[in-house]
Amino acid sequence: MSAIEGGAIGGGLDARSSVLRLEGTERTYPGSPPVRAVRGIDLAVSAGDYLSLMGRSGSGKSTLMNVMGLLDRPTAGRVLFAGADTVRLPDRHLAAVRGHGIGFVFQSFNLLPHRTAAENVALGLGYQGVPWRMREPMAVAALEAVGLGHRATALPGKLSGGERQRVAIARAVAGKPRLLLCDEPTGNLDGVSAEMILGLLDELNTTGLAVIVVTHDHAAAARARRHLLMSDGVVTEAVLADTQRGSQAPVAPQAAGALGE
Ligand code: ADP
Ligand code: MG
Repeated sequence: MSAIEGGAIGGGLDARSSVLRLEGTERTYPGSPPVRAVRGIDLAVSAGDYLSLMGRSGSGKSTLMNVMGLLDRPTAGRVLFAGADTVRLPDRHLAAVRGHGIGFVFQSFNLLPHRTAAENVALGLGYQGVPWRMREPMAVAALEAVGLGHRATALPGKLSGGERQRVAIARAVAGKPRLLLCDEPTGNLDGVSAEMILGLLDELNTTGLAVIVVTHDHAAAARARRHLLMSDGVVTEAVLADTQRGSQAPVAPQAAGALGE
């Protein structure tokens, strides 16, 4: 708590600093038998990292994303955000760390249908504690940054799927988070729109934003520079097979299959 209040979230750390660190992180759902959805994960994510997360349905991807997004607490191990241990933070502080530090993008956009694009983005800024006077100009700037400045007053129903996802991305990054978590961001989009969204994620990543994308799409996963594979709650980091290299790249067996190499 004191580390966060002391400013570890806001700055003072260099650009390559640790954004997220999992240490022996687990999440078990109670029951008989209990479900060990996430098991003993060690992972460090730095500013500017770009990770894909693949794995079968039920392998634990959503559970892991919820833990990484500080939406759920681990049942064992540690989760550090910007160097600060979050596990024992009271809910209120955890929500503040999440609001300032992490943006979320979902497959189904999750926009409020009766609010304009700008209002959707501004509402997101409200949750991040941005004073209301600043919300509208920041929302419009975020929409301009995703090429939708001219659609700021449109309702989501009047926008294409790709445009809706751009609004959702504007909402996710308007408050300048350090980590962007995307759950199947192109799952509902046609190829052209998907390409545009992936281009946008690339662009955001080059500004230093750490990006983690859950996807079933090999082309989307290939945009990332680090590739995580999840199976039965366990994460393996795979290095894509490099046929040009003489030495054998350390590809996990299930990793090779899931990435189609
Ligand atoms: P994925 O996103 O890869 O499909 P999930 O994280 O949703 O995987 O689920 C991982 C495992 O945890 C599955 O066996 C699932 O049935 C179980 N699970 C998910 N949520 C709950 C819950 N709230 N209570 C009990 N078990 C759950
Ligand atoms: Mg899931």
